[in-house]
Amino acid sequence: MADTRLPDPLDQARHCADAALGMMARQDIPPQPENFSVWYAYVSGRNPELTEAINEILRRGDGFGPEVNDALFERFAAQGPERGALRELSQRADETFRRLGETAATAVTGTAGHAAAIEAAAARLDPPPSPALLAELAEILRTESRAAAATSRRLEQDLAASARELARLREALGALEADAATDALTQLANRRSFDAALAQAVGQAEYGGRPLCLAMIDLDHFKRFNDRHGHPLGDQVLKLIGRMLLDGLRPRDSAARYGGEEFALILPDTDLADATALVEALRQRVATRTLTNRRTGESLGQLTLSAGLAAHVAGEGMESLLRRADQALYQAKQAGRNRLARAGE
Ligand code: GH3
Ligand code: MG
Ligand code: MG
Repeated sequence: MADTRLPDPLDQARHCADAALGMMARQDIPPQPENFSVWYAYVSGRNPELTEAINEILRRGDGFGPEVNDALFERFAAQGPERGALRELSQRADETFRRLGETAATAVTGTAGHAAAIEAAAARLDPPPSPALLAELAEILRTESRAAAATSRRLEQDLAASARELARLREALGALEADAATDALTQLANRRSFDAALAQAVGQAEYGGRPLCLAMIDLDHFKRFNDRHGHPLGDQVLKLIGRMLLDGLRPRDSAARYGGEEFALILPDTDLADATALVEALRQRVATRTLTNRRTGESLGQLTLSAGLAAHVAGEGMESLLRRADQALYQAKQAGRNRLARAGE
């Protein structure tokens, strides 16, 4: 899910707003709502990725032109609508539950009313009633049972409407959950859902006694690529690499965007030899592909990746597996990049 912390208390909000406007003025950034939301989030420090991205731009001293501002907003404002949607869903759920509660209360008082009327009529059967009283009692029974039937029809309709609304809410919530588990740029799993998937995979490997491999992948010299071709093209490349990774996987595997230009692959039921072949094929496919700027047709050359691969050993937790895959990735970088290193070698 998105950040669900409560809004800042008013004082803090005022402070953040002042600080954001001050920084925007110093950087010559137009005081538009989109820019303000980015800088407000920056000074509030609640999005580490945004902080890092802005710090990087500040370090480079390139300034904040319209393109940079737009890219920052596109990249980091995605949480806004999601939070809004979540709020709306939760309001609708509250409303539906309130209506269900009212329906239940009506049902109790409604049936109690009919039952009391019928009981009162029954009490009049002792001593045995005259024909006139019998006719009167029969009329009471008819009226009350008609009213009871009408009440229960109304209740049924109310309940059906509430059930439909709840089904709609469940569906919307499911879509929102899927959004929250997905990286907006590449549509791969994000870090959060990767952590959950890895924990599950390690558990299954452990209890099923099956092999499991984890690959950590990092693009080589991606900063250089961004510097040469610009961040927006860098984003397009990240998307493309995400697709290439997915294309090279089998149905049981999963790929995630682990961080900026880092990816992770979970390869269940796969021993080190098979995982090596799979990741090595991916590495080669990426390294031999010539990238082109689709808009201008300009060739952007090749991009390579380094990978660290680790096979789960019995009794090993996910932190240790991650650490070993990461160490292997570091070795691959040290050994010259564009290669795969295996943990424990
Ligand atoms: P190395 O081979 O050692 O990994 O070098 P590198 O330049 O890839 O690594 P470094 O960690 O120095 O820089 C990572 C770069 O990735 C810097 C950052 O601008 C870029 N990056 C991270 N996230 C994104 C993103 O979402 N979009 C784009 N375009 N670039 C990103
Ligand atoms: Mg990196
Ligand atoms: Mg890198």
